[in-house]
Amino acid sequence: MRIRIMKEKRKTIAYSLAPEELSIILPNDEVPEEQFNSLIDAISMAKVGSGHHRLVTREELQELLRRWIDNLQVRPNRAQVRYMRDKWASCSQRKNITFNSLLTNMPKEFVEYVICHELLHLKVPRHNKLFRSLLSAYMPDWKERVTRTMEFVLHKELIW
Ligand SMILES: [Zn+2]
Repeated sequence: MRIRIMKEKRKTIAYSLAPEELSIILPNDEVPEEQFNSLIDAISMAKVGSGHHRLVTREELQELLRRWIDNLQVRPNRAQVRYMRDKWASCSQRKNITFNSLLTNMPKEFVEYVICHELLHLKVPRHNKLFRSLLSAYMPDWKERVTRTMEFVLHKELIW
């Protein structure tokens, strides 16, 4: 996975985790280098490699998918796993759901988030208020899951 550092007109540092790229978005006004370095330090010292991050196999991905279909009481027309360059998952109007094969070898807590998120689109197609409240109801810690995964990816990249 690549790491890309971008600058945007914003006030705080943000992350965006795409399948082949973790972006770190910095505020446009020059970020002092020390601030950036201390961010990298903080992240690399985060609780990584503590066994917290269990990576998912393809079979586990299927199993998690079955479990969440059951849990959310949804009926996808078809669910498949294949490589996609720029998204983790997609849901068509015909209720066909596709998950990115790159999800295997990602932390389990992140894979579960992607599954839950995408299956919820069978109930609510758009990222509106209802969608966000359902997501938080079914997975209250989804933001932490995503953040920890980004820290994990960043740390891995720094080591290699
Ligand atoms: Zn979505």
